[in-house]
Amino acid sequence: MFKCDRCSDCCFFKGEDEDPVLLPHEVYYLKILGKHFGVKLEFKQLETGFYRWIIKGYCPFYDPETRSCRIHVEKPLACRMFPLLLDIVNVGVVASSKCTWVGRCIGRIKNISSEGELAKIFPVEYEALKELLGVIYSNGVIAVAFRAKVAEDVLSKLREKCEITSCIESKLLEGLHLVLITGCSSKFVEEVVGSDNVEFLIEEKLVLVE
Ligand code: SF4
Ligand code: SF4
Repeated sequence: MFKCDRCSDCCFFKGEDEDPVLLPHEVYYLKILGKHFGVKLEFKQLETGFYRWIIKGYCPFYDPETRSCRIHVEKPLACRMFPLLLDIVNVGVVASSKCTWVGRCIGRIKNISSEGELAKIFPVEYEALKELLGVIYSNGVIAVAFRAKVAEDVLSKLREKCEITSCIESKLLEGLHLVLITGCSSKFVEEVVGSDNVEFLIEEKLVLVE
């Protein structure tokens, strides 16, 4: 099973093609985290609706003293999936050669012949990959942030028409709850939740998959 060497190579970026690709709501959330941690962040929108997170050198959330990620618990899917990468052009999954563990175990990785095997070697990363695919193939994604805990009856009402992909209480920003919803309109969410309770609301239209 994959065991990160903690070499930090994946938090250092040599060029734009290495930079993480983000979903729109992740950009919004990183901007909030950036403000909280006092770091400047740069993003570039791609034609597909995704964003490129422009990082030169070490990621601004990387802490060289502890050699760890300061937003580990809420880092974007691209980081949670790593060393797995989604090959959009060939519609497949590849293991990044940038990862030292992958370099060492390349023979074993090349022999992976099924999804089950991939999930066995990269259990956590595979879950993140599935989450990404779920968002890409969903019918519109709405990311909502609430300043207060979302009541269970509100969630049940939302579930009648929408799919709640995730609903988490931020561990980094006190009192912030992040909800990722698919399959319904932002208007419906606003009606159910009440516009006063919504901190930000994004309706994504990713054009990658029709
Ligand atoms: S967010 Fe964390 S894991 Fe991702 S590149 Fe930055 S420091 Fe590394
Ligand atoms: S490059 Fe691979 S081994 Fe090194 S820190 Fe990143 S995931 Fe871990």
